[in-house]
Amino acid sequence: MNTGTDHQEVARTRLPLTVVPDDHEGPKRPAITVSRIKQYLACARQYAFEHEEGIVPAFEPAARTFGQVMHKALERVHHYRFVGGYPRADQAADVFRSKWFDRPKNGLRYLSGFSAKVYEERGAELMARYVEACADDAVLAVEPDVRVPLSDALDLAGRMDLVRPDDRIVEFKTAHRQPFGTREHLLQLAAYAFAYERMHGVRPHVSLVTMVASSVPEVIVRNVRVSDNDRAFFVATAHEVVRGITAKVFPPTPGALCTHCPFAAPCAQWDGRAANDNASAD
Ligand code: SF4
Repeated sequence: MNTGTDHQEVARTRLPLTVVPDDHEGPKRPAITVSRIKQYLACARQYAFEHEEGIVPAFEPAARTFGQVMHKALERVHHYRFVGGYPRADQAADVFRSKWFDRPKNGLRYLSGFSAKVYEERGAELMARYVEACADDAVLAVEPDVRVPLSDALDLAGRMDLVRPDDRIVEFKTAHRQPFGTREHLLQLAAYAFAYERMHGVRPHVSLVTMVASSVPEVIVRNVRVSDNDRAFFVATAHEVVRGITAKVFPPTPGALCTHCPFAAPCAQWDGRAANDNASAD
């Protein structure tokens, strides 16, 4: 496996399965991603600053960059497995180091106790541990595109992290401490279970892999049961979020998220109007 200096992105792989076609002709309809749904639910005001009002964030949370780099490293290792390779733990660790070295470095803000070096060491160890545990597991598709109708007027779009041959979709998360369970990710898992079933006519198995970047890095693999209710809950939630966005309902959600929010300054000035309305009123 080429690990150290080749920074080319791996070509994304489409699912080699029959895709149930849209019964829809013409240009693509509006779509929403799971990550935007989650951000709106976490804080609709933050969503509006970032996606509706064009406010430049004051910084980039390093934790988010760490998660993005981890996904790129996993994508590369999974692709190597997809073409028949068996990645070694030390190679996987080198892949992470290489990707971490290439990260955007400007404007990163680190949480207390974390630094670029800490993330590099913990990320490399997590990759090695993951590969030691799962290196032989077969891969059917790496980061396959998702686009399925949520309603007559709206699609769900995104990418699954990984699909294994037994109709098992696998999602990866990074965390800084032991997660309490899978509840906080159930909406996303239900979204992809819903999408997979729409695309392939098969109800998938679902796994969640959490890469815990604590002082003792740990990889936690959990199989998650996604029920019919969970799927229906996701679809209903997505519709409510779209209704809120369409109606431009973007209230703040003061809470734990504010401590590391890159939009805290404009939020403190917010008076109920969109940020661009404030500019035009001045
Ligand atoms: S500071 Fe808090 S309430 Fe304001 S946008 Fe950020 S997360 Fe939302």
